[in-house]
Amino acid sequence: MSPLDNIKPQVRALAAYTLAARRAAIKINQNENPYEMEARIKERVLAFARERPWGRYPAFDPQELLDRLAAFAGWKPDGILAGNGSNELIEALLLCTVGPGARVVIPEPTFTLYALLTKVLGGEAVRASLGPELEYDAEALLRVQKEHSPTLTIVCSPNNPTGGSLALADVERLCAATSGLVVIDEAYHEFSGQTAVPLLARHANLVVLRTFSKAMAMAGLRVGYLMASPELVREINKARLPYNLNFFSEAAAMAAVEEWPSLKVAIDRLIVLRERLRQELARIPGVKVYPSTANFFLVELAEAEPKAVFEAVYRRGILVRDVTSYPRLARCLRVSVGSEEENGALVAALREAIVEVAAAATTGERAK
Ligand code: PMP
Repeated sequence: MSPLDNIKPQVRALAAYTLAARRAAIKINQNENPYEMEARIKERVLAFARERPWGRYPAFDPQELLDRLAAFAGWKPDGILAGNGSNELIEALLLCTVGPGARVVIPEPTFTLYALLTKVLGGEAVRASLGPELEYDAEALLRVQKEHSPTLTIVCSPNNPTGGSLALADVERLCAATSGLVVIDEAYHEFSGQTAVPLLARHANLVVLRTFSKAMAMAGLRVGYLMASPELVREINKARLPYNLNFFSEAAAMAAVEEWPSLKVAIDRLIVLRERLRQELARIPGVKVYPSTANFFLVELAEAEPKAVFEAVYRRGILVRDVTSYPRLARCLRVSVGSEEENGALVAALREAIVEVAAAATTGERAK
């Protein structure tokens, strides 16, 4: 018997959620905010952290942060959980709901963690296809929901990696049509101008997830939050690890919320840059750009081999995301909206890379 025989068979069967560590002058592979948190905000958090005893645990419940998040997001403090990134809260939620026999409706393609954790926990990921243009197909979701009576329906809106949002009217239809929970992952909502939070008061089976890793420019500090009815939150809280949020990240999250007006300026700038980037990418021959309500674009290549283009762009100092292993995205790369300079460099590099890859392919054909 091997020690590995102790691992659940469904875990052995899974491919890990990993990302190869590559360095690049321009890093647009993780949908991060290219604008660094202002120095004066950092200084305030650092000053607090300098004085706060490091040998003492953080608060068991970060009540002050929960109160501020409630005011910020427009929900009740006792209906909020804060976590070490929203990944941790996705995990806590699934730990409390998914076991053998449970079905989880998950659109395809989407963020891979939902299906991964569902399978680790012995549940079944039931896939709902996106529409022909990779847009959300509410009818398909409703159909799959009806057929499978899922414990959870998880919708990432805006969707990573395709960029489309599910209309709020359709979120309501999903909530009304199931006795299971409907989870809306709003990791990118600040870029979309849409949120399901106002629906929480009407739908006791709705759960909304948010993160400080994208628009809030704090991916390195790992803060996320979950919003639902206080009754649900009390249950999910049972699976949250004690002291999950360190005091430094908690203080930084409070400062970020307080400094929302200045963060919002940067987000609005990214939204303007997004439209400009879309137009410029769409002008590159052999490129199709899918519409996006987030801070990234899915780019489909007509002829050039995407992995070769990924490498050719990387040789020019730009790291994008290879999403070719996702269902239906075999010809796609994902690029984050960066600063104006970064976007300009991406457009130039992608244009050159496609020409280079096409030329190499032609030479290779001739040599055969
Ligand atoms: N949800 C989605 C859709 C994401 O894209 C990500 C980050 N890739 C997360 C959740 C996790 O974010 P966090 O850093 O808050 O754990």
